[in-house]
Amino acid sequence: MKEALKTYGEVLTNIDLKKYNTYGIGGKSTFLVKPYTLDDALNLIKYLKNNNYSFYILGGGSNVILPDEDYNGVIIKLDYLNNLVIKNKKVEAEAGISISKIVQETLKKSFVNLSFLLGIPGTLGGAIRGNAGCFGHEIFDYLEDVTIIDEDNEIVVLKKQDIKYGYRYSEFKERNVIILKATLKLELGDVEKTKQEIKEHQEYRKNTQPIDAKNAGSVFKNPEGLSAGKLIDEASLKGFRVNDAMVSEKHANFIINTHKATSSDIIELINIIKKKIKNEKNIDLELEQIIVKW
Ligand SMILES: Cc1cc2nc3c(=O)[nH]c(=O)nc-3n(C[C@H](O)[C@H](O)[C@H](O)COP(=O)(O)OP(=O)(O)OC[C@H]3O[C@@H](n4cnc5c(N)ncnc54)[C@H](O)[C@@H]3O)c2cc1C
Repeated sequence: MKEALKTYGEVLTNIDLKKYNTYGIGGKSTFLVKPYTLDDALNLIKYLKNNNYSFYILGGGSNVILPDEDYNGVIIKLDYLNNLVIKNKKVEAEAGISISKIVQETLKKSFVNLSFLLGIPGTLGGAIRGNAGCFGHEIFDYLEDVTIIDEDNEIVVLKKQDIKYGYRYSEFKERNVIILKATLKLELGDVEKTKQEIKEHQEYRKNTQPIDAKNAGSVFKNPEGLSAGKLIDEASLKGFRVNDAMVSEKHANFIINTHKATSSDIIELINIIKKKIKNEKNIDLELEQIIVKW
């Protein structure tokens, strides 16, 4: 199988998934493939589907809770699909590019409107799937279209108006598709002022979020009109732990891996938090992070 996979990109074997997600958890994967081109990605997907091989697409691994069990399948990473073209006040970028690279490159040309995304780790593909956002903006605010490999292995371009999306939601969460690239609208603005705002945002994150610890961002979505972090804090759960998985002292909507937490530790902690908030406030917290199952 390894030889066949090599037709479609770089192949790594028996890889430790802990290195591929920001929680630093997970077992091993038999294969990891990085397609070199969009065509490679399409052909790889066709090959895997035709042969009934199991695969999972991973971006920066900054929103996932990967299983402790080893994966007898193929992890696909789009690291080499990282091209970007800026023209006509638009940026067209491939899904494997990092969000920070898009911000940096567009800012170089005085386009300022994507700067709010700086500080969100991960790739364009992951950001679109979950409609990533912060500081009052989300990526769909500036989305024009998305190119995907759909369920029938066709490459399809979807206009924003034809895609269902909402708060930390896009229809791609419910569909078995691969995001290949996207076009985002750009707006010119005051670069110096924007750089100052970026600094303030970075400072804010540093002061309020455990960015130096292993975590995967907000654990729960904010219930309408409420803050998940505040609810968890009010339930006195800051610092509460299951083995090495701990509710951050800095921000209660973050779970951190203090040393050797496992996926089961994190999931057990999530369930404890959910139960307590349900019992005390009668609110069902909805997970923002993704529990991956092989
Ligand atoms: C310190 C920190 C701060 C964060 N702050 C924010 C924030 O402010 N706002 C916010 O919204 N999020 C935040 N996050 C969460 C996370 O960074 C975002 O959700 C990010 O967009 C996930 O991108 P990723 O590439 O890491 O996706 P991954 O975690 O790798 O994957 C997420 C999901 O997307 C799927 N996926 C990935 N790429 C593709 C693709 N090309 N096609 C189809 N499916 C794909 C995966 O299969 C998985 O289901 C933060 C995380 C951390 C660690």
